[in-house]
Amino acid sequence: MSVSPFPEINVSPRILLGPGPSMADPRVLKAMSTPLIGHLDPEFLVLMNNMQAMLKQVMQTENPITLAIAGTGSASMEAAFANMLEPDDEILICINGYFGHRMVDMAQRYGAVVHTLSVPWGEVFQPQQIEDALRAHPNVRIVAVVHAETSTGARQPLDEIAQLIHARDGYLIGDTVTSLGGVAVRVDEVGIDVCYSGGQKALSCPPGASPITFSPRAIERIKARQNKVANWYLDVTMIGSYWGSERTYHHTAPISMNYALYESLRLILEEGLENRWQRHRENAQHLWAGLESLGMTLHVHEDYRLPTLTTVRIPEGVDELAVRKALLNDYNIEIGGGLGELKGKVWRIGLMGFSSRRENVALLLKALQELL
Ligand SMILES: *Cc1c(COP(=O)(O)O)cnc(C)c1O
Repeated sequence: MSVSPFPEINVSPRILLGPGPSMADPRVLKAMSTPLIGHLDPEFLVLMNNMQAMLKQVMQTENPITLAIAGTGSASMEAAFANMLEPDDEILICINGYFGHRMVDMAQRYGAVVHTLSVPWGEVFQPQQIEDALRAHPNVRIVAVVHAETSTGARQPLDEIAQLIHARDGYLIGDTVTSLGGVAVRVDEVGIDVCYSGGQKALSCPPGASPITFSPRAIERIKARQNKVANWYLDVTMIGSYWGSERTYHHTAPISMNYALYESLRLILEEGLENRWQRHRENAQHLWAGLESLGMTLHVHEDYRLPTLTTVRIPEGVDELAVRKALLNDYNIEIGGGLGELKGKVWRIGLMGFSSRRENVALLLKALQELL
């Protein structure tokens, strides 16, 4: 037997403080190395049931259809649109960053009539704006909003918007990929009809298994569809019968990813939801104060700033790419650059899940101070 000409995997010990992936908790990585068992093995089904119970607690919902999609956050996002939309359905999509545009692209692919509402990147929607848009488009039944815009660092309040939508017998789709596990996502209390997330942001998990939950009303809508869900892999009526008591084979559950998500949910419940949100808030406040004391300006108004993702304006005359390269090469720290409207204007700093640590904030601030 000869030695492979290809090198072993040997990556640097990065500190991931960008828009994702964030760092996986070592306990999650350990869980992933658990030997495989079958996806219909009684022992695996017990894990699935317990994972579902934990997911409901973390998402703060009683929805029976609460599960993990086999795929990254974009897969759970696509599951929301594929299941809720049929051709010619009218949808209102709120765009205040990159992910709003992705929602539009997905909804159009399922044949929906898409109406959009936009505010500048870094701002959030006021309930009156949603109300006006719903009045202008009375056939809209579905509204999609990003709770935590990873491209801008803005946190969209959802309570009042949900009420407005429900008053018109509509449904709210909420993207909580960058909030779940770091910022309160109270699915039932707020009234998010379809709420999806992803593993790799604030859940301290690698990308690959993504929570999603559907309200009983949303499930009724899906059951009353005229056409089959136009996406075989993400059809929640079929996936739901594997997660439900029927245990019908649909696709093989990604065993190791489910081990990972299981352990990450255990970690969240051990820490406690309130404690976890507070940790994210406190570390973000240290970061914000530190960046401001270095003379920098935060892009989002304090009232709507996300603890999990901070956008800071790039100081005048600074080569933003050179700084990011130096952070990576000399300090093993990854942060993100701006996207879309904010390209070249901001850095994006994530403090999510296992990455949200006081020592990471201190290290990043020191490194920036040395580089600037
Ligand atoms: C990261 C992200 C997604 C997509 O998740 P992937 O894991 O990259 O597929 C969707 N929405 C938001 C707000 C995100 O931050």
